[in-house]
Amino acid sequence: MKIAVVGAGYVGLVTGVCLADFGHEVVCIDKDEGRIAALRRGEVPIFEPGLVELVKSNVEGGRLSFASALGPAVAAADVVFIAVGTPSRRGDGHADLTHVHAAAREIAGAVSGFTVVATKSTAPVGTGDEVARIIGTVNPGADVAVVSNPEFLREGAAIEDFKRPDRIVIGTDDDRARQVMTEVYRPLYLNQAPLLFTDRRTAELTKYAANAFLAMKITFINEIADLCEATGANVQEVARGIGLDNRIGAKFLHAGPGYGGSCFPKDTTALVKIGQDFGSPMRLVETTIAINDQRKRAMARKVIAACGGDVRGRTIGVLGLTFKPNTDDMREAPSLDIIRGLQDRGARIVAFDPQGMTAASALLEDVRFAENAYDVAVGADAVVLITEWNEFRSLDLARLKTLMAAPLFVDLRNVYRPHEMRRQGFNYVSIGRSGAG
Ligand code: NAD
Repeated sequence: MKIAVVGAGYVGLVTGVCLADFGHEVVCIDKDEGRIAALRRGEVPIFEPGLVELVKSNVEGGRLSFASALGPAVAAADVVFIAVGTPSRRGDGHADLTHVHAAAREIAGAVSGFTVVATKSTAPVGTGDEVARIIGTVNPGADVAVVSNPEFLREGAAIEDFKRPDRIVIGTDDDRARQVMTEVYRPLYLNQAPLLFTDRRTAELTKYAANAFLAMKITFINEIADLCEATGANVQEVARGIGLDNRIGAKFLHAGPGYGGSCFPKDTTALVKIGQDFGSPMRLVETTIAINDQRKRAMARKVIAACGGDVRGRTIGVLGLTFKPNTDDMREAPSLDIIRGLQDRGARIVAFDPQGMTAASALLEDVRFAENAYDVAVGADAVVLITEWNEFRSLDLARLKTLMAAPLFVDLRNVYRPHEMRRQGFNYVSIGRSGAG
């Protein structure tokens, strides 16, 4: 099949590359000409494990190419995916559909023959109706079926998730579109990918419901962690104790500094707005957002409390900046709030992240970026682990300690064991594990 993917970011690029790897002929299009020029040179503008190799092999195989103008690729395509950004609209938190609508207008002017336009971008209920209306207005003769095909991949494991998804949700009432989309994903059938066909609005809402549920699950265990600290219980054991129940499930029960990233914050906020628009309030989600926002600031206070209530003039070393490991994505990363909270109270920050420092340097001021984890510890009054990159999971703790001014380790991801850290001579603070353990 001939496929055009509009938007070559985390989702569009991974979608395009994986579909090419299945044997389809794919053109990834982005209006950012610098991004396209880089991709044509073989440089991949985002960090995602395995992506560089997969881009290379599919370009060499002649199945994948890049363009900054969508005309020819869209005209030739059986399916056009829209994978542009849908950030929070400034001011009210609604999903900003400017890019989706612009892409729809451009696609409308270029389509030729029957074409499926599949929205991968996370977009509110009714977006498909609006995309269809735009295309019909710009090009009344266009033979187009607009489908919602939300994406559930996780950054850091995006290729694996795309190739072996738990489910593929396809929202359409059009039989021709159904056949085309089945053909697009047919190569996954070898791995028994479950296709779930729904109407378009259901597919749109499914994506928001999934992200909101996961955000609630994280927020729930985070509140339980606070209660563990207050009562002397151990959140990791509580999480295991509830997670072994199949009705609950073990995933997304790791207590931490609050969720961040490019999806959960904006999608939960957008779901609340959708609920308001339709007069059906999303009260659990509203509360989740409020708790999570407070939590990020509370993490700065937790560090300050661990430092004895005052960090003015102190040096705090930060391990990990990205919102999760294995990505360079800094969007809404908890580290931003935590670092700013510490700086507001007069702390000096030294930070290291394996992939996130370039993006972080554009978002943070007065941070010294270190060469490695041990460089962060030099002269530090405390080291705070914010993102659980693999390379922070088995640090040489004796070496780390000798470099520090004071042996205070605040572990916001519960990577280390409290008794082991105490044995090593650290003053160790973690999440929801105030008792021995
Ligand atoms: P991104 O910001 O990384 O990429 C979007 C790209 O689209 C940019 O490169 C931008 O230049 C390009 N673009 C914007 N308008 C364009 C146009 N008219 N023509 C061509 N290119 C255009 O965004 P992302 O993280 O890939 O997210 C894309 C969508 O997928 C969002 O709706 C997001 O909510 C959703 N999503 C993201 C993830 C994730 O983990 N990042 C997961 C699932 C769903």
